[in-house]
Formats: sequence, C-alpha cells, structure tokens
Amino acid sequence: MVQAREINLADLLRFEPEEGLIWLKDYRMLMLSACALGALRKELIATLGWVRARGLMKRFGYAAGLADGLALAKRFPQATGARHMTFGPALHALEGFVKLVRIPERSEVDLDRGRFHVEGYWDNSFEAEQHLELLGPSQEPVCWMLMGYALGHSSAAAERETIVVETECRAMGHERCRFVAGLADEMPELARREEHDYAPQHLPEMLQDLLKTLKRQKRDLRSKEKTIEELRSEVERARSRGAFIGDSERLAAALDTAQSVSPYKTTVLLLGESGTGKELLARFIHEQSPQAGQPFVAVNCSALPENLQEAELFGHAKGAFTGATSASAGVFEAAHRGTLFLDEIGDLALTAQTKILRALQEGEIKRVGETRARKADPRIIAATHQDLAAMVQAKTFREDLYYRLNVVAITLPPLRDRGNDTLLLAEHFLRAYAEQFGKEVGGLSRDARCAIAEYAWPGNVRELDNAVQRAVILAGGREIELDDLPTPVVTGSSVAAPQAPSATARETSPLQAGLLRIGDEAERIERALELAAGNRERAARLLGISRTTLWRKIKALSPDLSPPGSRFGRQS
Ligand code: ZN
Repeated sequence: MVQAREINLADLLRFEPEEGLIWLKDYRMLMLSACALGALRKELIATLGWVRARGLMKRFGYAAGLADGLALAKRFPQATGARHMTFGPALHALEGFVKLVRIPERSEVDLDRGRFHVEGYWDNSFEAEQHLELLGPSQEPVCWMLMGYALGHSSAAAERETIVVETECRAMGHERCRFVAGLADEMPELARREEHDYAPQHLPEMLQDLLKTLKRQKRDLRSKEKTIEELRSEVERARSRGAFIGDSERLAAALDTAQSVSPYKTTVLLLGESGTGKELLARFIHEQSPQAGQPFVAVNCSALPENLQEAELFGHAKGAFTGATSASAGVFEAAHRGTLFLDEIGDLALTAQTKILRALQEGEIKRVGETRARKADPRIIAATHQDLAAMVQAKTFREDLYYRLNVVAITLPPLRDRGNDTLLLAEHFLRAYAEQFGKEVGGLSRDARCAIAEYAWPGNVRELDNAVQRAVILAGGREIELDDLPTPVVTGSSVAAPQAPSATARETSPLQAGLLRIGDEAERIERALELAAGNRERAARLLGISRTTLWRKIKALSPDLSPPGSRFGRQS
C-alpha cells in the first residue's frame, strides 16, 4: 500500500517557467499571491455582501478541493480512502493555504466501517490572515475557502457527503482556527446550517434576490418621482392660478369653458398667442379631470425635427432607424389614460398628422419599426398660435384632423386685451418672487406702473413674469423703478406689436405715422401734446414712448422744467 507520507507531493512538483506551467505530476497547478486572493475576497464582500461572498468563496474552495481530491485519487489509485483523506490537506499545505493539524484523540477515520470524524486546527490560514489585515476582526469564522476545500476533498475521498465547519477562528480573536469534519448524516443540524452556502440553486436565487432589490429600489424611485411630480404640479397649480389672475371678461369666459369641459374626455383645442398660458390651461383642465392622478405629458411639436416626429409621438423599436439603439415608448404611450398636451400642433408634418388622426380614432398606436398595435388612449389637448383654419385652406393642415381636434376651442386673450389684468398680474408676480427670493420689495413706482400698463407685452404673461422676476432681483429690496424693467418696456418699443396689433395701436398708427414724419424732436413733441390736449400720457403713447421718456425729453429740451405757460404745457 502506498502511504501518503511516503508520497512526498513536493517531489512531484515540476516548474516549467519558460512555458508558463507548473505541474504536480501531470496535474496543472497555479501559484498566486495570498494578497491577490485577499483583495478579491474583500471586493466580493464589498460588491455582493457578506453572505453572498461567503457562499461564493466556500463554493470556490469546494470546487478546488473536489478537483484536487479527484485528481489525486486518479493518480494514486492504490491508496486507501483513509490515505486519500490526507492527500487534500497535504496538497493544500503545498499550495501554501494552510497547515492542518489533527487532534488525534478527537479524530477517527475508518471509511470501510463508515467512520469519519476529524477535529483539528488550521494553522497559518491565509484567509484569516488576509481577512484580519484587510477587513479587521470578525464576529464569525472567516476561513471560508478552507471550509469549502476541506468539504470538497473529504467528500471525494469518502465518496460520501461530508460536512466541515470552522468552530473557532483567528479572525474572531481565537488563538487558532479550529474545525470539525464528519459525515453529513451524522451531523444533520450543522449540515442544514451549511446547506444554504453550498446550495447549487444559489446562483439563480442570488439573481432573484438582486432582482427583488432592484424592484424595491425602482419602487422607491417611482414613489420619490411621484412626490417630486406632485410638488411640481403643486407649484404649477400655484403658478397657473397666478397666470389666470385677473378680472377681464375674456379670460373669465376662457376659464369657464375650460372648467366645464374638464370632466369629459373630449379633445380640446387651445388658441392664443405664445405666452398666454396655454400649457397652464391644459394642466388646469387635466387637474380638474377624472384623469388627474394619471400622467400629464406635454410635448412641443415645433421643437421636433420632422424626421423624428413619429418616433417621438409613437415610440420606436430597437434599430428602427440610425441612432435607435434601444426600444422606446413615445408620448402617446407615456400619456396613456392621462392627458397628452400637443403644443404648436400646427408645426407637425402631414405624415405625423395622419398618424395622430389614426391614433385618435383607434385608441392604439404602432411604434416605428413595429407591426403590433399597442394601447395608447390619452385625452388630447392641442394648442397653436397659428390659424389652423387658414392652414386647412392652404392644405398644410389636415381638414379631418382639424375637425377632430376642434371639438371645443378655447381662446386665451393676449395680455394687452386684458385691461387692468396686466397690473394685477405684475403685482402677483412681484409678491411671488419677493417671497421666493426672500426679498422685501417696496412695490412698483408710479413710473414703473405706467410703463407696465402701457407696454403691449407681445410675449404676454410669460414676458411679464420674466420682466417682474428680473426687476425683483435688480431692485434688491427697494421700490421697483423704471430702470429695473427691460428696455422695450421702458421705451414702449413694442407699441406696434408684430402679431395682431392691439386695438389702441391700430387706432393711433396713422396719427403716429404723421407725427414721426416731423423731423424736429421739439416740434414733434409739441405737436403730440397738442393732439393729446396736453395729456402727457396720451402724448407719450402717440409718440410710441413711455410717459417717463417723454418727461425726460421735455426736461432736456426745456431746462427750466417747463413752467406753466411754456411751450410744453403744464406739469402733470
Ligand atoms: Zn479561521
């Protein structure tokens, strides 16, 4: 019989460094540094967590022990099972992992009689050493690879299911690492405890765990997103109430219609110049509607390049076109059961118009590059500043889509037609921004009020909002003066607004034209004052300048501040 101690494994080692090979007889071995394995261990714990890393290291050790056990059994077939039992520890010692010291009085190996019980020490465990160095002391044994290895080779040698457990460990502060090994069916309690770490279904389980974690995180994220969305719509609601402040009849009529159409899932067409609050009105309708808890998705069609319109609206399959690296849902799907706000719908190409019509008729869409239909049935609110009826005449907008959208049309009036609302709004924004920026603002000076009231606001509520925000910042606590307002507001340079000039502007323009033909400024001002019967506010409007500018000009032309009776009339 060949005895293990007669076989000096070290004598069988053969190095072929020029070939990058190490052999134990014809069994290929590897040599690697303890700290490399230590670092790997540490990283596994950091990325997978303690329990998963422990399982992985045990199974890694098990695979190594089993392979070594089987390889040695094959190469030394004449050795007995009991001798085979000693091969593993000997090889493991040769490999530099650990030195196994049996406690003879607590060990019995007689496989023929079905006896296998070994207790002993693992001295110089590389694992305890690395763990202490990289991670510090532990509450539980850490010689995981050693446990796995011992289990692997003892199972191979015993040809039975064994169990190996470390009971004391240097990483826990014990003097020596201590283990117990035996037959699994004789130590059912321990076997059950260890089962989890070696369970072959552990990988899918691990994936399940990871998936569960991922799902939980996604849920958390969604609820956070929802909170943010709620806060955002809270702000939007506050703002929309702001934009709809005012007492002009035209605005009240628009809001009334919006309110009464809200509960029904009918298409709404919002008309009006840009900046009049069409998106806010769309949100207002959405929030009053039964779909309020569902998504509100807004898309500005004028911002979509023509070749991407369909993909944006209806989504696309992976690889549907260059750059479509993954499948994606469009806004119709995103707004399913909610509200889809299609701003500047007049800017959509005819092909996209056709698809929208079909989507509205069928309550389904097809992603670009897909053949199957998907449910997408949002309520549609469309908006435009263009004259869709004229576009229908010009055949640039589909007539059938126009009628489909134009079930209820609501026109938001431009700010210049809302009379006193401009000042009410300015004061509202002033209070809102003063609060937002934590600034005391002394209100609007008389000149600033005049300029705001006189200006035509071609950019409507949005422009006013921005102007007041800027003024609150510039004023920095004092009263808002003329100089804090944007130049066009001060000079009144938008009296002749590019789009749809106001009634006043239309009325005065021939007069203005006549005045502007007068080359001499003093004469021009004099003439304007005459026409305005001495009313400087009206004279300023005729000249297309603000009252303050007029005042400054008069002051410059007449240094004695134009006393009563001078050519520039009375002080007002
Ligand atoms: Zn240990």
